[in-house]
Amino acid sequence: MLQNFIGNKFVAPVKGQYLDNYEPATGRVYGKVARSTKEDVDLAVDSALEAFKTWKRTTNKERSAILYRIADLIERHLDQYAACESRDTGKPISVARTVDIPRAVDNFRFYAGAILHEETICLHSNNGAVHWSVNQPVGVCALISPWNLPLYLLTWKIAPALAMGNTCVCKPSEFTSASASLLCHHAIEAGLPSGVLNMVLGLGGECGSPLTTDPRVPLVSFTGGTATGERIAASVAPYHKKLSLELGGKNAGIVFADCDFDKTVQGLVAASFSNAGQICLCCSRILVQESIYDRFVDAFVERTKQVMRVGDPTNPETRVGSLISREHWDKVSSYVELAQKEGGKVRCGGKRPDNLPERCAGGYFLEPTIITGLDHTCRTNTEEIFGPVVTVISFKTEEDAIEMANCVRYGLACSVWTESQRLAHRMALEIEAGLVWVNCWMVRDLNVPFGGWKHSGVGREGGRFALEFYSEQKSVTMAYTK
Ligand code: NAD
Repeated sequence: MLQNFIGNKFVAPVKGQYLDNYEPATGRVYGKVARSTKEDVDLAVDSALEAFKTWKRTTNKERSAILYRIADLIERHLDQYAACESRDTGKPISVARTVDIPRAVDNFRFYAGAILHEETICLHSNNGAVHWSVNQPVGVCALISPWNLPLYLLTWKIAPALAMGNTCVCKPSEFTSASASLLCHHAIEAGLPSGVLNMVLGLGGECGSPLTTDPRVPLVSFTGGTATGERIAASVAPYHKKLSLELGGKNAGIVFADCDFDKTVQGLVAASFSNAGQICLCCSRILVQESIYDRFVDAFVERTKQVMRVGDPTNPETRVGSLISREHWDKVSSYVELAQKEGGKVRCGGKRPDNLPERCAGGYFLEPTIITGLDHTCRTNTEEIFGPVVTVISFKTEEDAIEMANCVRYGLACSVWTESQRLAHRMALEIEAGLVWVNCWMVRDLNVPFGGWKHSGVGREGGRFALEFYSEQKSVTMAYTK
C-alpha cells in the first residue's frame, strides 16, 4: 500500500481512499495507491512551507552533501528500484537497470555538483555603485510527472529544486508511484530534513489540480500531455507562478540518401521502439528520401522483427515490454485502425503478440508496428500516439523534408541522418524543435537546455537553465560610500 509522504512520515490519505495499482505486464492488481484530495495537498504544502524557513538558509555545501547521499543510496539499491520501476510500468527490467535508474542517480549527482560551482554577476561599474546578483530559492515547488520514465523525470525536477534551496510537493503519476515512494525512504536515510520533500499520490484532477492552484505554491513544473499542460497553464495564469511545461511530441526522423545506411536503420529502430515508443523523444514519423525509400523500409522492417523482442519485462532478453494501461493500449491500437482507414499499410505488427508467456496473458502488449502509404498531413501523422507505432513517408527534396517535419503543432525533437555536414547544419537550423540529433538519438548531456517548441512546451530545464528556473534572480545595487 503506497501512502503519502508528508513531513518525513508515510501517512494515509485524509479521506482514507485508495486506487488499484496494476501491473501492466499481467493486467492484474498488485497493490493500492493513496487517492489524495485537496485536504492532503493542504497538509503537504503546510509541511513544505514550514521546512522552507530553514532549508532555504542551508549552505550549498550542506544541500550538496545530502543530494550526493541520495544518489549513492539509489545506486546502492539499483536492483530494487529497477524491479519496482519495471513492475509498475511494464518496461523491460534491462531498460530500468541501464537507463531509468542510472539517470535518476545522475540527476542528483549533477545538481549536487553544480551548486558547488555556481557563479553570479558582480560589477564594479563607473556609475558610483557596485552591482551584484543573487539567485534565491522560490519557495514550495509543485512537481508533477508522468508514467513513462517515472523516477528519472521526477528526480529531474526534485534534484535542481532542492539544490537551489526550495522545498517541494511532488505528484507522481497515479500509474507509477512506487519508485517515488522508495525514494522517500532514502531521502530520510540521507538526512533530508522533515518537510523538504513531500509526496502526494493520486489522480491529477483530484490532487494535482489543487496543488498547482494552491496560492502558497509559487512554482509549477509539469511534464505530461499537451492537453493537461493547457489545463494547468489556464488554471495557474491568475497566480503568475513560475511555470515550466514539458509536453507531447510528434518527432520526425529524417533520412537522406547519403546516410550511413546500416547505422541509420539501427538508430531509428531504437528511436522508434525503445520503451515501447513511450518516450516523449521517440521517433514516430520517419521521412526517407525517395531514392532509398524501398530499401530503407525493407531493412527497417527486417531489423525491427529481428531485434525488438516483445515479452515479459522480467526477462532480461526482452526489448519491448507492455504499454502502461488498458486505456492506453486501446488508444494506441485505435491509431493502427485509423491509419488503415486513412489508406495506410501495416508492414509489421499492429496486434497483440501471440507468443507471450502465460504470466503475461492479460498484459497490455502491442507488437512494434510500422505503417507506410500515408500522407504526411493525415491524423496518424500529425497526432501524438505515444506507443510502438511508427510511419515511414517518402520525400523528394530537402525543402520537402523540412516542410513535412515542421507541419505538426509539436516541436520537441528530431533526428537527421546524413553524411553531409553542410546539409546537417542547414537542417539543424530549419527544424522547429527544441532538440535536434544528427546521426544519433537520445544522446543526452545534462548541461544542455531541454524543452520543446510550439505545443511541446514552455521554458527550458536542464543544466543552468533548471537552476535559473528553480530560483528567483535578484540584482542588488549599492552606492559606494564616500
Ligand atoms: P498526463 O498529462 O495524463 O499526466 C501527467 C501527470 O499530470 C500525471 O501525474 C497526472 O496525474 C497529472 N495530471 C493530470 N491532470 C492534471 C491536472 N488537471 N492538474 C495537475 N496535474 C494533472 O500525461 P501522461 O499520460 O502521464 O504522460 C504521457 C504524456 O507525457 C505524453 O504526451 C508525453 O509526450 C508526455 N511527456 C513529455 C515529456 C517531455 O519532456 N516533454 C516527457 C515525458 C512524457
